[in-house]
Amino acid sequence: MTERVVFPIAEHRYDAALPHVPESPALPTGRLHDARGRRLHDLRISVTDRCNFRCTYCMPKAVFDKDYAFLPQSSLLSFEEIERLVRAFVAHGVEKVRLTGGEPLLRRDIERLVGMLAEVRTASGAPLDLTLTTNGSLLRRKAQSLRAAGLTRLTVSLDALDDATFRAMNDVDFPVADVLDGIEAAAAAGFASVKVNMVVKRGVNDGQIVPMAAHFRGTGHIVRFIEFMDVGASNGWRMDDVLPSREVLARIHEAFPLEQAEANYTGEVAERWRYRDGAGEVGVISSVTQPFCGDCSRARLSTEGRLYTCLFAGAGHDLRALLRGGIDDARLAGAIEHLWSQRADRYSEIRSSRTEALRRIEMSYIGG
Ligand code: SAM
Ligand code: SF4
Ligand code: SF4
Repeated sequence: MTERVVFPIAEHRYDAALPHVPESPALPTGRLHDARGRRLHDLRISVTDRCNFRCTYCMPKAVFDKDYAFLPQSSLLSFEEIERLVRAFVAHGVEKVRLTGGEPLLRRDIERLVGMLAEVRTASGAPLDLTLTTNGSLLRRKAQSLRAAGLTRLTVSLDALDDATFRAMNDVDFPVADVLDGIEAAAAAGFASVKVNMVVKRGVNDGQIVPMAAHFRGTGHIVRFIEFMDVGASNGWRMDDVLPSREVLARIHEAFPLEQAEANYTGEVAERWRYRDGAGEVGVISSVTQPFCGDCSRARLSTEGRLYTCLFAGAGHDLRALLRGGIDDARLAGAIEHLWSQRADRYSEIRSSRTEALRRIEMSYIGG
């Protein structure tokens, strides 16, 4: 019999500290660096901890079952609270915001939030690079309205083209055809180049690497192969399940010769490779075998408003408590500045048997 893991109620599941609020904060300058000189540039926001999939590597059914205590609605940041926090981060130099989850398209009226964030301007007066990561299940229905609301880019997760493999990985028997249909709907709505994320698990879906590359070559969409990561505490991660990106690239290169392409910007997570015949490009995200902590510019905001300065952080900083306690904009900016300037995380670089024992946050709570 499988042993059930019992979590305490969601609200108290993870440690959270009340951020320090400086007495007389300096005005934000539009650039903020951490203790290792890394600029604050990206903000990822988990808008819900719920999902209609149970991907085995993210929300395994044995843990996320019918008794699992998801967050109550009152714990979630409201859209107004999210907008306020985004504006505070933008004042410190954030230019890119990604909405994620859980499954972000399950959050009611998500288009309204997209519309609110599409109005925000960066320090240089430009609109935000506003993007969203989805499992694609509701995309056919929502692609048009998301585009109309001002979403600029879209990432769709898809782990296999083979229907049986895909159904086994999402573990709710969801058909692959519906996700492919969602990607088509997104293209028709004006999302020219969709990023397609495939988490590769050795022995589970690595036979799908070349078929995925073949399917999306020449479409303008970009498949990104992600090494299976040891996020959270429930996905039974083992190094043996990780297929290194080098091997992913070797397999594709054998079928369709590749050459390396330049990064689009410093801190880009995916390494870019283009097809020599001009049929587009693929990316690899090698968080396990080639950590990229050195220029990690990403802050993460959990569903209930806690700031995590690393995907593998054990504790968050409770920004929602500051908002709901009536903090003014200047002091909120000061609290964020204090947090980021203290940041020294580099979990993936020091991953070892020692760190495996650390308590880690679940991906669905903090966002990918
Ligand atoms: N539900 C949405 C989706 O699946 O696209 C958004 C949230 S999901 C947590 C964000 C991304 O994290 C997805 O692309 C997913 O494949 C990836 N992910 C989740 N667990 C992972 C793991 N253990 N290792 C690597 N990537 C993972
Ligand atoms: Fe849901 Fe995305 Fe996690 Fe899959 S990866 S369980 S779709 S949140
Ligand atoms: Fe950034 Fe932490 Fe990932 Fe390193 S381990 S790249 S610091 S989120």
